[in-house]
Amino acid sequence: MYDIQKIREDFPILSRKVYNKPLIYLDNGATTQKPRCVVESITDEYYSVNANVHRGVHFLSQQATNLHEASRETVRKFINARSTSEIVFTRGTTESINLVAATFVDSQMKEGDEVIVSVMEHHSNIVSWQLQAARKGIVLKVIPMNDRGELLLDEYEKLFSPRTKIVSVAHVSNVLGTINPAKKLVEIAHAHNVPILIDGAQSIPHMKVDVQDLDADFFVFSGHKVYGPTGVGVLYGKEEWLDKLPPYQGGGEMIQNVSFEKTTFNVLPFKFEAGTPDYIGTTALAKALDYVSAIGMDNISAYEHELTVYAMQRLKEIPGMRIFGEAEQKGGVISFLVGNIHHFDMGTLLDRLGIAVRTGHHCAEPLMHRLGIEGTVRASFGLYNTKEEVDALVAGIERVATMFG
Ligand code: PMP
Repeated sequence: MYDIQKIREDFPILSRKVYNKPLIYLDNGATTQKPRCVVESITDEYYSVNANVHRGVHFLSQQATNLHEASRETVRKFINARSTSEIVFTRGTTESINLVAATFVDSQMKEGDEVIVSVMEHHSNIVSWQLQAARKGIVLKVIPMNDRGELLLDEYEKLFSPRTKIVSVAHVSNVLGTINPAKKLVEIAHAHNVPILIDGAQSIPHMKVDVQDLDADFFVFSGHKVYGPTGVGVLYGKEEWLDKLPPYQGGGEMIQNVSFEKTTFNVLPFKFEAGTPDYIGTTALAKALDYVSAIGMDNISAYEHELTVYAMQRLKEIPGMRIFGEAEQKGGVISFLVGNIHHFDMGTLLDRLGIAVRTGHHCAEPLMHRLGIEGTVRASFGLYNTKEEVDALVAGIERVATMFG
């Protein structure tokens, strides 16, 4: 049973007020709120364990190391990776993509080679590649979409050439909510002998992900979007690929031996983890993953799906409503505009009613160009949102619309 009241009680922030109104938090695509167990894990570890990991012989250092490495195992299990060697801790999705883009382009690509991305990517999955492309003369090719916000698989197929070296695509769009057919995208890339990175920033909080079943070569996500702390994220990479890629940053932890003549590098995954990791954050991330696992990812998916269907239906009743993203497979992200009301005005006035939504281009300007708009209002759901909150959103939008005549 999905006990929504009990779940909400796990998140202290949900009972606060803003402008003397109950907080209705619908900005989960940007970041999620944290359950008590995650926050307590952070204070507990600082109060009773804190010591730098891996290098210490003393008790606390070993305890901190054990917690940190146990968290890696929790992540491995959560996404069903083969081995913890394939789990690299990073600062988040952005750093994970930059790591792959920098090391892959550096070691695997030559001038004139091509990367395939899609029109609905977050800037982090565009600019990371562009920076490398500019340095080395690499070409970006873009998978187009239809007006419902679904990628055109036929067009995707046509983009492959002998110069295509990697594909990098979002699992779920942070603007349209489209759940891309990741398995199919992987299959097509592999049919062309091309590896593929899946940006799981918007999928990992909402659905079960099995990287072996998906068969993607890289899968990346951020801890803070899945009820974990900020500042820690994950790069999953197949061992064969991580082995082929050179280190990203130099420093402690990532080396085996250092001399001025020759330095050798550590084994996976440490080769990619230069410097002191956010070991407090990784423990808290593991707590967050344990938390959602206890509820059950399938239960979360089912609950959020029902909420999304309800919200789509209620929002469409509003006169002048335009929803961007009506894919057959759609997660709990709804972007919209109402009449001629500017997204910023709508967001600001909803905020005064205690409703937190996001406005703007959502770090997806190329997608905004494709849609022919400057920005949208975006409501994005988490596992603790309710139909009553959707009703309040609808009432709020109607009130703002009335103000604008
Ligand atoms: N990709 C997608 C699809 C996202 O939604 C986001 C966050 N909005 C990112 C990447 C970047 O994540 P982060 O800022 O946590 O690195």
